[in-house]
Amino acid sequence: MFGISMPAPGGSSPDAGAHPLPVAQLVFDGLYALQHRGQESAGMAVSDGEAVTVVKDMGLVTNVFDPRTLSGLPGHLAIGHTRYSTTGSSTWRNAQPVYRSTGSVDFALAHNGNLTNTVSLAARAGMLGGAVTTDSDLMAEMVAARLADRRGAGPALVDALAEVLPLLEGAFSLVAMDTSLLVGARDPNGFRPLCLGRLGQGWVLASESPALDVVGASFVREVEPGEMVVVSKGRLRSLWPFPEARVDPRLCIFEFVYFARPDSRLYGQEVHGARRRMGELLAEVAPVEADLVMGVPESGLPAAEGYARRSGIPYGQGLVKNRYIGRTFIAPDQRARDLGVRRKLNPLRENVAGRRLVVVDDSLVRGTTQRATVAMLREAGAREIHLRISSPPFRWPCHYGIDTPERAELLASGRDLGDMGRFLGVDSIAFLSLEDLQEAIGAPGGGFCDACLTGCYPVPVPAHLGKGVLEPAVAGGPGCG
Ligand code: SF4
Repeated sequence: MFGISMPAPGGSSPDAGAHPLPVAQLVFDGLYALQHRGQESAGMAVSDGEAVTVVKDMGLVTNVFDPRTLSGLPGHLAIGHTRYSTTGSSTWRNAQPVYRSTGSVDFALAHNGNLTNTVSLAARAGMLGGAVTTDSDLMAEMVAARLADRRGAGPALVDALAEVLPLLEGAFSLVAMDTSLLVGARDPNGFRPLCLGRLGQGWVLASESPALDVVGASFVREVEPGEMVVVSKGRLRSLWPFPEARVDPRLCIFEFVYFARPDSRLYGQEVHGARRRMGELLAEVAPVEADLVMGVPESGLPAAEGYARRSGIPYGQGLVKNRYIGRTFIAPDQRARDLGVRRKLNPLRENVAGRRLVVVDDSLVRGTTQRATVAMLREAGAREIHLRISSPPFRWPCHYGIDTPERAELLASGRDLGDMGRFLGVDSIAFLSLEDLQEAIGAPGGGFCDACLTGCYPVPVPAHLGKGVLEPAVAGGPGCG
């Protein structure tokens, strides 16, 4: 998710803070840096001060936008998005940003995360099933309804968002815009990241800090949980639309484990360093005699580096990743994921044959990726395989924007280490504890969501979320003590 507001041509500042590249190109570059956050569809909305133009389609950022498309999107203000589906199917209709025109206001909106009260909100707003296909669609409908009531009076989009956001529950970081202003917001728990940067006299919002780096923006700070930032006429102001009691920082701990780029900074910590420390601690708590430590590319590599450093066992490459293949975990169905593993990874036989391997991976969800990987390493002649996971067992589904399966499909749910090891075909298996994971991240004072690891959900979730059945909310959860 990306947003940018540059000075409008002919603005009050002497050089108008002009950037040599058009905003559409900058959004493209920012989204390209954030491609790992979603690979199903990409889109952007651009304003030239008069109208908002939206271009979006299925596919990667480079599939959706080419130089010709970008050159047809003049403007000084834009938002962009890459999507992988959590609520709503993987179709063009659900690509973001979503756009609405109320007659007096044109606006676009894009969001990361997953609402937990979509069904009740839609029902309360009198929307029929099928009329709203995604969380973002619902948000846009609610904002549009308020804008229509206002009949164009006042700074409409900001007011409408400030009314709608407190009604939403769950995880949402969003960017929104009309023809002249840019808005960024995080839910009161701040499940999904969003940071703020400065580019000349302009402002930039991005899900992760590397997207600021690639467009040449300097990191200013993270948008705070519960904060709404508004950029208008080159000036930035903060609003706090949520009741104070709801503000409780719970950044997704999985951003550190797997999801974020290694060069991202979250809670002031570089993700790569945190992953390396996870591996170091793993070597302390789960040592083993072996000949080679190898990581499962890409997100297992820093922890493998840390494991090797702390254990003194040589570090080497045991798998080659086809760098043109996307992530399997965020592929939309099992068939796509299964095909993805074999396409993505291939063993380096000379490094593997006859060796006792420590294979380090960041997490274990279904176990299908690791099972296929272990089989490939055995075929390549590995003598022993000791699997080390640099996070705790993933036992509970996520309802806040990471598309994980039901409990029954989670390998660690209801299985002990022996069962998991047998299923995966490894000689031994060990995980990092939650306490060690938090120590490795080392973000003092930073609160985390760890519901998928503990079963303690910071925001109540309906029992059958995602199936369209609203049941009494599950407050907290079994892991809350
Ligand atoms: S449940 Fe897990 S994956 Fe989902 S937001 Fe919480 S920590 Fe992240």
